Amino acid sequence: MKNLKIAIQKSGRLNEKSVQILKNCGLVFENYKSSLITSVANFPLEILFLRDDDIPGYVEQGIADLGIVGENVIDESEAQVSYIKRLGFGKCTLKLAIPKDSTIEDLKDLNGKAIATSYPVILKNFLDEYNINADIRLISGSVEISPGLGLSDAICDIVSTGGTLKSNGLKPFADVRRSEAILIGRKGLEDNHILCELVQRIESVLMAKETKYVVLNVEKKNLSAVTTLLHGVKSPTIVPLAEEGWVAVHTVISEDDFWEKINRLKAAGAQGIVVMPIEKIIM
Ligand code: ATP
Ligand code: ZN
Repeated sequence: MKNLKIAIQKSGRLNEKSVQILKNCGLVFENYKSSLITSVANFPLEILFLRDDDIPGYVEQGIADLGIVGENVIDESEAQVSYIKRLGFGKCTLKLAIPKDSTIEDLKDLNGKAIATSYPVILKNFLDEYNINADIRLISGSVEISPGLGLSDAICDIVSTGGTLKSNGLKPFADVRRSEAILIGRKGLEDNHILCELVQRIESVLMAKETKYVVLNVEKKNLSAVTTLLHGVKSPTIVPLAEEGWVAVHTVISEDDFWEKINRLKAAGAQGIVVMPIEKIIM
């Protein structure tokens, strides 16, 4: 069976987490900053390091079989690729923003206005959806300075914390598209068994990241109050303690409602709660 090739970002915001997720899948490879391609020693995969903008096109053309890239970049490229798995990192939102003192109040106020962006395709689709006719000005970098320079009335750019907008006298106005990193594949690859194996490993890694292994002690009389709060992978493991009338409960809980759950467990009589990270969960 031929090795698959996966393209990931060479350097930038997605590089480190892309490398990390592959390593957490148990793949062993050298991560030389200078090389364009590296082989995985223990899995039939080669890794290509590219600029993120090139990844959707490479996957569409089959130069790479798979890629890890932001949804914003996929949409902007309009490449025909399969969405295989959301990866939960690189989260950001493409937003419209306007100067703090702008008279623009509603989306329709954008009619006839100039909007600077590096994402003309996504912005055009968004404006079309709302029947807005604006002048889209393509700017490749530092989009946020363009209203201050008199080049545009608004911008459409990626925002994660909003700090850059604020320091340029801008305020967010509307969300255009949310994005996160996603595993894409070339069309027709969906049933490939190397891909299926990789996806299974990625799912295990993602699930483990969202959950914690919890061990706690509880008096038997409080056991059912504690276990009803726990809906682990299956049911909790209960082990007797040396001290008569006490047991240890082992289970897995999700990161989401973690603090709320821990407080409720304590209130229900749980003691000596130990929380541990999980490396992988194989379902
Ligand atoms: P390259 O050199 O590979 O072309 P780049 O400069 O275009 O890199 P980065 O800034 O590294 O791209 O961002 C890569 C991706 O990270 C973005 O396309 C987006 O999906 C995601 N991302 C997450 N948070 C942010 C953010 N605050 N600003 C920009 N991109 C972000
Ligand atoms: Zn880029």
